[in-house]
Amino acid sequence: MNTCIFCKIAKHEISSKIVLEDDNFLAFYDINPISKGHTLVIPKNHIKDFSQLVKKDARFIQNYLQFIERVRQKLLQELKPKRGIKITWNTEGLLEVHHLHCHLVPVY
Ligand code: AMP
Repeated sequence: MNTCIFCKIAKHEISSKIVLEDDNFLAFYDINPISKGHTLVIPKNHIKDFSQLVKKDARFIQNYLQFIERVRQKLLQELKPKRGIKITWNTEGLLEVHHLHCHLVPVY
């Protein structure tokens, strides 16, 4: 049984505050934001972490990055953070949720 919380969010089995969604990717607000608009961007299909992402084909990685950029532009327009948006990927021991996600953190 799949108990991954972000898989459940991707399937809308657990609610989240969605920022942007398409068939393959989902952006939603972090439940414990470190700044206003802190957003997570995930592939809907389970990928464990960054080391697995780099094994995916170039088309998938490009689509993921382009989706992240759409989310970033949306946050910039809506929130107008003075210093822009920091994009980070946690890895290894820093990871709390083992479903690939990047953090978009507006910096005011
Ligand atoms: P990390 O794995 O360290 O990159 O952090 C996981 C992030 O997921 C944390 O910032 C959590 O606040 C966030 N998070 C965990 N569960 C949820 C949830 N159900 N909805 C939104 N964000 C979540």
